[in-house]
Amino acid sequence: MSLDQEIQAYRADFEEKRLAKPSRCEVCGGPGPLHWHAEYERSLICFEGTIILPIRRVLCATCRATFALLPDFVVKFRRYARSVIGFSMDQLKRMSLNAVADMLMERCGRVVATFTLSLWRRRFVRTPS
Ligand SMILES: [Zn+2]
Repeated sequence: MSLDQEIQAYRADFEEKRLAKPSRCEVCGGPGPLHWHAEYERSLICFEGTIILPIRRVLCATCRATFALLPDFVVKFRRYARSVIGFSMDQLKRMSLNAVADMLMERCGRVVATFTLSLWRRRFVRTPS
């Protein structure tokens, strides 16, 4: 499924209240009970531009913590879609940080700092030990 299709499916699930609650609390790891909590909107940078996505929060009745239920194509704490980060990490295998930053400028129309790319690499690429 393309990212566009994933986004469309997610939006439909959100609007028709078909999103599935997670089976475990992300904070305490317990089974909850988990309740739907607030909703908010967040931006996500894709190749086609920046989109706004609705996100639901879940409240754990056991530990009273809330956490966001993020779709698979969103990476927690990252503004870029998982596919953009994945694409960049693939390119970094054969291109320099500067070259990949230039490529993202062309594809996304955004300046991605080489520092950001190196942070992604540290976070998302496992180096063989
Ligand atoms: Zn909990």
